[in-house]
Amino acid sequence: MTGKLFIVATPIGNLSDITLRAIDILKSVDIVLAEDTRHSKKLFTHYEITTSIRALHEHNEREKTDSIIAEINDGKQVALISDAGTPLISDPGFVLVSTAKKEGIDVVPIPGPSALITALSASGLAIDKFTFFGFLPSRQAARLKMLQAKTNLQETIIFYESPKRILSTMEDLLKVFGASRDVCIAKELTKSFETILTNKLPNLIEYFATDESHQKGEFVILVSPADKIDIDEAETQLEMLLPILCSEMGAAKAAKLASKITGIDKKNCYKRAIAL
Ligand code: SAM
Repeated sequence: MTGKLFIVATPIGNLSDITLRAIDILKSVDIVLAEDTRHSKKLFTHYEITTSIRALHEHNEREKTDSIIAEINDGKQVALISDAGTPLISDPGFVLVSTAKKEGIDVVPIPGPSALITALSASGLAIDKFTFFGFLPSRQAARLKMLQAKTNLQETIIFYESPKRILSTMEDLLKVFGASRDVCIAKELTKSFETILTNKLPNLIEYFATDESHQKGEFVILVSPADKIDIDEAETQLEMLLPILCSEMGAAKAAKLASKITGIDKKNCYKRAIAL
């Protein structure tokens, strides 16, 4: 029999959110690779899955990939799961899957929940275009820089954030995006304390700051797209500003300053500064 690699989505909180196909695959494969074997044992006990389980996490994935590929080539059926949701989405598995694909191994997705799609579906924000950026940087300077580069995107933007930083990140969002954007904070999805709030940032900050218990749990942050009018305004501002700044300083410095003022990407400002 030819070995296959199954990528199996598991619940993001509520144990009932798993497909019948996922349970069948986890019961029938030879090996399940899990991020944290102790965590996944709870799911296995609940569904009476007795398949042998091995650890595959960010610290050993590179070292283990070759031997797993060899086992699949020998005919073993292998499933990959993570602690929650869809593997590889801000989770380990990329090295294994990309190597398996290069080796011509059949990689079979078994779809199920993912926190970003679950949050998006109930956020009330534009869903026709969106981009997921994974976890925000933990250092504030890097976080502000990353957010600044996203201010003109005309699509919903999605981040994962830890409870340690949820409040300070919301304050950074307010600094960068202003008070008029709609933002959704989706907390503890599918769990008992599920909270999905879509509101302006000052109201959200007030809600999360007034009670520390509101800051506990797992979070998805979604920011509504930039307004076309705001972008047009920024463009007009840039056209006025750039020649003035360039007459006083070098193009790189002028672009940096113009980007800070207008929110337009620094590279874009620089290209236009040197073309003046
Ligand atoms: N693979 C997962 C997925 O498909 O969504 C994501 C794994 S990532 C390591 C964990 C992060 O996802 C959490 O820190 C949180 O930002 C988000 N997350 C996971 N479960 C969640 C839930 N039930 N409610 C809100 N956010 C969740």
